[in-house]
Amino acid sequence: MLSLIRTIPDYPKPGIQFRDITPLLQDKQGFAAMLDALAAHCSLMQVDKVVAVEARGFIIGAALAARLGAGFVPVRKPGKLPAQTIKQSYSLEYGTDTLELHADAIQANERILLVDDLIATGGTALAAVALIRQLGGLVTQAAFIIDLPDLGGMQHLANAGVQGFALYQFE
Ligand code: 5GP
Repeated sequence: MLSLIRTIPDYPKPGIQFRDITPLLQDKQGFAAMLDALAAHCSLMQVDKVVAVEARGFIIGAALAARLGAGFVPVRKPGKLPAQTIKQSYSLEYGTDTLELHADAIQANERILLVDDLIATGGTALAAVALIRQLGGLVTQAAFIIDLPDLGGMQHLANAGVQGFALYQFE
């Protein structure tokens, strides 16, 4: 499965090693094995809804939600969700970005699993956690395909009370 994740040098900017999961997604055995591994890790969790961040997070989050018998909730970039939203800004290497969540997407005390394809600094995941908690959702677990441990995102999530799990680590 690991061989189906390819590294694209200097994308999207010079110096960045982009971990590309599209070969994994397009491989029927690889895609199923990846979902099996994530679902096995989550099998003992009580999950009402999976929350995932656009766009690659949707691919994994929606499929995993179906396997876990949970609902699916999208977190999106500004202006993409049609109904009333709540917003959370977060820092990027240069500047800031904002994520949105439908204000009625999560009820108080629902048990939420956060999913994305990759965690790097954790800024995206922490912004999603803040949105979930603003609506009263309980989020203590997060699942990823890839962790870049050198960037510290998992530790930042742990400091916020969320235990993260990733199938693979890359330097
Ligand atoms: P963070 O906010 O943790 O620094 O960055 C994680 C977000 O950026 C995720 O939503 C992820 O999809 C995206 N991302 C950053 N670097 C990569 C990469 O090398 N490969 C992929 N597939 N996504 C990345």
